[in-house]
Amino acid sequence: MDRKWYEKPLRIAALQCNYEEGRTLDVVDKWADAGFNAEQLFHPMAESYTAVYKSETHRGLLVKYLAKARRRGLRVILYLNAHIIEPSNAGRREAWAQRDARGEFYRLYETYDACCVNSAWRDRVFEAIDRIGDLDVDGLFLDGPVVCGSGCFCPACRALFQKEFGEALSEESARLAEFSAGSVDRFMREAHRRFKARKPDGVFYMNFPLLHESCFSMPEALDYNDILGTEGGFMFYGPAQGACLWKPSVNAKISEAAAPGRPRVIFMAADQKPWSWYVHTPVETQLCIASSVANASSIWYGLHGSTALLDTPGGRAAAELMRQLARHEAIYEATQPASSVAVMHSFDTSRHYHSSRQASDFYGGIRQEQGAPGNYLDSLFGFCDALARSSIPFDAVTDLDASAAVLGRYDCIILPTCACLRDAAVEALRDYVRNGGNLIASLDTSLLAGSGQPRADFGLADVFGVSFEGRVTE
Ligand SMILES: [Zn+2]
Repeated sequence: MDRKWYEKPLRIAALQCNYEEGRTLDVVDKWADAGFNAEQLFHPMAESYTAVYKSETHRGLLVKYLAKARRRGLRVILYLNAHIIEPSNAGRREAWAQRDARGEFYRLYETYDACCVNSAWRDRVFEAIDRIGDLDVDGLFLDGPVVCGSGCFCPACRALFQKEFGEALSEESARLAEFSAGSVDRFMREAHRRFKARKPDGVFYMNFPLLHESCFSMPEALDYNDILGTEGGFMFYGPAQGACLWKPSVNAKISEAAAPGRPRVIFMAADQKPWSWYVHTPVETQLCIASSVANASSIWYGLHGSTALLDTPGGRAAAELMRQLARHEAIYEATQPASSVAVMHSFDTSRHYHSSRQASDFYGGIRQEQGAPGNYLDSLFGFCDALARSSIPFDAVTDLDASAAVLGRYDCIILPTCACLRDAAVEALRDYVRNGGNLIASLDTSLLAGSGQPRADFGLADVFGVSFEGRVTE
């Protein structure tokens, strides 16, 4: 069977603003010369750090740009902002923006309003997608959507929640996470349907919030993501000594476990977050690209300043590595994991249990759950860090795909405070141990059901040989 073009290794370039002083078409040559084989195209439509296609404004230039990219063998995936309201539409905030439970507008990047997928904003996005279908593009990327904070409480969401569930929307609602994820799901299905109606062979994907389970549902999200692309390579966000250097590889491993038959891409900011004009050092750049590719992901390399940043030590290191990857594609294409140890990523725990939120341009902070002593994401990255520093190769598995066939590949499976495990996962882990497998688990693992409801005892009490007696709180 012929593989689609985007199922082969991708080296995607992006320029997330426009400081090119009118030399827009020159950017094609810069990417092609640097070894990239695709662009996620943003800069000809840039309005500050956001971009939404408007045919009357952008079509003329885009037609020229796309023709030149075609000549240079560069695939083009059009970028479409789907998380903030751009400055020229800031006046629409009353109708389009997300609000918290007190009615205050959420702010992204401390600057912009966040658009709501249930508001009238959605209609203008669908119209833009219809018009993008007239362009000679190879795909469409939606940067978003996101659901901020504990959820959106705008008038449209309040009305929809009341209609769906027959009760008023509140922060205490047990169905809030389900509603948020369902809203994103419904929006994405329609966006996907519209694009594919015009471009059946085009690639379509979103900025996938892999470690922010409250904004999507798995495996439903695989229905409308031809590629699983996530911001695993947006690095630092704080002092360098506190950064997790394995963030790209952990994200790549979890992506592979969540979507084994699907192309994966790690999005890497060329710059140290949050300083858009400060490019990573050569070593930081090489580590991020190499650890993504070594874990079977393609790479997206995004500049948040001008293309002059390609002529910095970090930019030159990126281009050198891209050209090397281009020369040796056959070596790292279609690889298979060969580790004998796996760390479980629990989507149910990520959604329902107390956890840090991995810093990104969209998310951050901590979600508090009363009475939960653990911190899921810290535990996950802590175990991954210990394994990486011990030079023990490892894969990820997920609680949604904990089948005997998957678990049976490993000698040892680590459950990093996988507090919320559904019955099927518990049963599969029990069988795995019965068949000779080894488990390492921490803290509240299996003490809650997949829904987040407490169990009377650990679901794996018989396997652990321990029972839950209560918490020591003093
Ligand atoms: Zn809303």
